[in-house]
Formats: sequence, C-alpha cells, structure tokens
Amino acid sequence: MNELWADALETLRNRLSSEAFETWFAPIQCDGQTGDSLQLRVPNRFYVEWLSTHYLGFLHGALREKSANDKLTIEWTVDENLQERVPQQKRSVPAAAPTPSFNMSPSVTGERHEATLVGMPAPVAAPMQTTAQINESARVHGLNTKYSFDNFVVGPSNQLAHAAAFAAASSRGKKYNPLFIYGGTGLGKTHLVNAVGHRILQDRPSARVLYLSAERFTNEFIFALQTHKISEFRERYRNNCDVLLMDDIQFLAGREQTQEEFFHTFNALYHSDRQIVVTSDVYPQLIPEMQERLISRFQWGLVADIQAPELDTRIAILRRKAAEEGIEFADDVALFLAQVVKSNVRELEGTLLRLAVRADLVKRVIDLDFAKETLRAVLPLPEHATSVEDIQQAVCKYFNIRLADLKSHRRHRAVSYPRMVAMYLCRQRLGTSFPQLGELFGGKDHTTVLSAVKKIGGLVEKEDPKVRGELEAIERKLGF
Ligand code: ADP
Ligand code: MG
Repeated sequence: MNELWADALETLRNRLSSEAFETWFAPIQCDGQTGDSLQLRVPNRFYVEWLSTHYLGFLHGALREKSANDKLTIEWTVDENLQERVPQQKRSVPAAAPTPSFNMSPSVTGERHEATLVGMPAPVAAPMQTTAQINESARVHGLNTKYSFDNFVVGPSNQLAHAAAFAAASSRGKKYNPLFIYGGTGLGKTHLVNAVGHRILQDRPSARVLYLSAERFTNEFIFALQTHKISEFRERYRNNCDVLLMDDIQFLAGREQTQEEFFHTFNALYHSDRQIVVTSDVYPQLIPEMQERLISRFQWGLVADIQAPELDTRIAILRRKAAEEGIEFADDVALFLAQVVKSNVRELEGTLLRLAVRADLVKRVIDLDFAKETLRAVLPLPEHATSVEDIQQAVCKYFNIRLADLKSHRRHRAVSYPRMVAMYLCRQRLGTSFPQLGELFGGKDHTTVLSAVKKIGGLVEKEDPKVRGELEAIERKLGF
C-alpha cells in the first residue's frame, strides 16, 4: 500500500468512530501517487459525495500531517468492482451511485469512470464467477450491468418510452428505428437504453451492441483523427456494429465535424437495418446547433419522451430501490420522500441511500421522524409541503363549493360528496390520522372520516371513471 495513504489511514482510524472508519475509509483503495495527485478508488460515486461533504476536512488534515507536499490533491476513481472485495460489506452501504448534488471533484467524470471499468484488473478475490462474466460483457459492450427492464418501474410518465424501448429491443431494428428518447436529467434515459442493450444480448449473445455517450464518441473520433486510425474507427461504428446505443446526443451540439461523422455512421447503420437508439435531454428540434439533416433523421422512427414521474411511480421506484438495497422503511417514509423529491429519480434514489447510510451509522430505524429530521438538514424542504388545507381548497375549487360548506355538517350530496373526496385525498396523500382529519373537517367523528375514505376507496377500486377523473384532476392541480 502507498505509505502516505497507510499513514493517513492510521490517523483517521484513531480520529473517527470505528463505524465511520469502517464504512467510509476501509473500502478505499489507493492506486498510488503521481506528482501532486493521490489516486483513490471508491466503490461508487455516492462515496465521493459523502466523503467530500462529511469527511474532506479529516482526510486533508490527515494527509497534510503526513505529507510535506501541501499541493496534494485527491483524484477519485469510481470502481464498481471494489465493493465485492470489501470483506463483510455493510448492507446499507449503497451499491449504486445516484446523487443529485454531485459536484465535488472535476476529476470524477463519466469518462474516467468508463476508462476505469475497461482497464480494471480482475478483482483480487472475486467472490463469484458471474461477477467477472458480467463485467466482461459490460467491458465489451460498454453497458452498465445495473440497468435492465426488470428493474425499471413503469408509470404514465415513462410508459411510452419504455414500450418503445422494449419493442426496439425485440424487433431487431425494423419497427422503431431510430428510437429517440428524450427527457430531463435523472429520469431514466440511460437506464432504458442500457436495458435495450442487455435485452438484445440476452436474445442474441453474439449481437454486436455498442453503448456509448456522444461525448465518448466525440473523444474517440478526435483521437482516431489524431492517430490516423479513422478507418478503424469507422469499421467499428459503421460495420462491426449491429446495435448502436448513443446516449446524450445533445453533446454533439455545435461540434460540426463529429456531427458529420455521426451522420455517416447513422446512414450506414440505418440503411443496413441496424437498430439505433439515441437519447437526448431535449426534443430533436430543440437541440441547439445540430445539423438539420440529423434532426430530421432522429424523427424518422419514433420519438418518445420521459416525463418526471408521478407520485405513485416515485413511491414504486423507492420501494424497488429499497428492496434492491435491503433498506427497510415504513410506508409513510416512502410517501414523504416521494412528496419531497419530485422531479428527478436520481435525486430520489440518492436521498433514500443517504437516509439508509445515516440510519446505519446512528443505529436508528428509518421511520417518518427520522426521515424528516435527517432530510431537513440536507434537503431544502419545499417551502410549502401539501397540507390538509391545500387539499380542502383544491377540492372546493374543483367542485365549486365554499370551504365553510366542506367543513359543515350539511348532508346534501353537492357538499357531502366533495367532503368525502377531500377526506380520501388527505388520508391517501398525506397519511393524516382519522381523528385528526375529523377535527380538521369541522369536528367530525373519526368513524365518519373512516367511512368516507372507505366509500371513495371502494369507488376507486371499482375503477369508477367519474371518480378517477375527478381525483386525477384535483391531484394534478395539487402537483401530485
Ligand atoms: P438520465 O439518463 O435520464 O439522466 P438515468 O437513467 O441515469 O437518468 O437514471 C437516474 C437513476 O434513476 C438511475 O439510477 C436509474 O436506475 C433510476 N431510474 C430512473 N427511472 C427509473 C425507473 N422508472 N425505475 C427505476 N429506476 C429508475
Ligand atoms: Mg443519462
């Protein structure tokens, strides 16, 4: 082991609790030092973020004490194989790395990450043969083994993109070609496009599937030009490729020469019926400085969007993620998290993982109090989380009645029905207790609330179209 790192580790071991040390520092591998940079390898990006927000001071302090070099910087590398090597890894340490506010080190880039995966030696003591096999397949194809159709949660926001991706993966490049998936960041584009690759390889293991970002395509292209290897480059992307999965095409904006190259790559593949899937953060026409002829080609097949997931989808994603990671939490925690983090799945997952890590460190179960207390410090809670009053107002507005009537004891259906709907929504969406709701609806008995919730719940279960339509409209207004 690098001497400086070994010394720094000793110092850190003495300064930190053994839990913190074992969780965060024991898994780090030091790859050595080049000039002013100390290379440290961690199992995932979440580590980098956590270390940099919580332990960077300790880390730099320990290094500074042991090294005469005060310009020393840390270069992080993410290596997903690493986790396997850590003896008796704690369950709650995240296996994935989705963090929203990840902005710590410019040296941790996707580029570096890819390079590391490709260049990694086999794990010293790989526990399972399959790990090595999976990594080998990822190495050849550039795919991320974590992302499959099996662990993609489908909801109204991503239904079209999912169905199209699934069809593209099954139809051998005729039906939706090219498939163009667009949507905001962290909404599952990379996940879906990787799932397409895995699925095709499952059916046809010999298929030559290439997954890469447009950034990587650009870099490889420039490198090929500089090293006079352009014919190899073209061979790889135009001839030796059955399926091209190109992520984040918006990166080509303004890069004339790479666009030109991609245009010919596209044509070669398209005209020999090979599947192309492209993702972007915006609709084709909105990609700035992109050649018209490419934009029009992107629309030859199917253009499918991914929107921010609805509340129920967010809850389902949280549940799935928790199950994958072995994280246990109460139902109201899922609802709370899904209400707080609305627009980005990566952020949603990152928040859950953060919660799990902290719960493990401070030995707490993840209940609503713990979640609120933890996230208050980390997340800017929305100015105004939806309240019972908000729901009451929205319901009144929708049915055009007064708040006083909603809270009254009047039994006329024009009033009693909206009241039941409001009670139902409060219970479903906010999880407010029955007695509390009774009070907030003008002093009613909790059994009244209970039967209202049951009544509307029964109609929903029977898929009553009128009730569903009403609930959906009100929920949309409330931003659920
Ligand atoms: P994008 O490429 O659109 O920025 P990603 O595909 O990287 O987003 O997704 C961010 C994270 O959210 C990933 O960990 C991914 O697995 C997860 N994710 C996004 N959508 C879903 C979904 N519908 N079901 C399960 N996980 C999802
Ligand atoms: Mg992506």
